[in-house]
Amino acid sequence: MLQIYTGDGKGKTTAALGLALRACGHGRKVIMIQFMKGDIEYGEVKIASKIPGFELHQFGLPTFVEKGNPAAEDLRLAKEGFDFACEIISKGEYDVVILDELNCAIDYGLIYLEDVLELLDRVPKEMEIIITGRNARPKLTERADLVSEIKEIKHPFQKGILAREGIDY
Ligand code: ATP
Ligand code: MG
Repeated sequence: MLQIYTGDGKGKTTAALGLALRACGHGRKVIMIQFMKGDIEYGEVKIASKIPGFELHQFGLPTFVEKGNPAAEDLRLAKEGFDFACEIISKGEYDVVILDELNCAIDYGLIYLEDVLELLDRVPKEMEIIITGRNARPKLTERADLVSEIKEIKHPFQKGILAREGIDY
């Protein structure tokens, strides 16, 4: 099945990580491929190798991507991540494949929607695919079996509180 976690509220990546934990508990093999992220300080990056059955790979710079004007390195890393995702999906060795922030990578022009749709055509029958990130394209949500939109009602950021270790990263 294809699941999409989108919306402007907090909890998309953490929902995917929660599902990963649950799947690993049942002995499933899970891989999370993160786009537009490249920072070892994330708690999930630090713990990944200690969770049996879980793997995490990052393809991005620690800096923000400029919308409409991505750096050459941002584009290169996104392409590398997408090629890696294609290889992982076609090999069919994982039960759950999480494409974290793929919606954003499409939205920021790093990855073509058409290439993602084509990749989804090739997903092995038993594999679960999770795509996270804001601004999921309608063509993807139409295709999905499950779509959750997390809506921001309140966030401490509005009070000037920045990302907190262990909570936001
Ligand atoms: P998380 O990784 O905490 O589950 P997310 O995946 O839903 O969040 P993203 O859109 O990927 O959110 O944003 C990444 C960063 O921005 C995270 O540090 C996250 O906690 C924070 N964030 C998410 N939603 C908001 C918001 N509405 N306002 C401010 N910061 C937010
Ligand atoms: Mg996220």
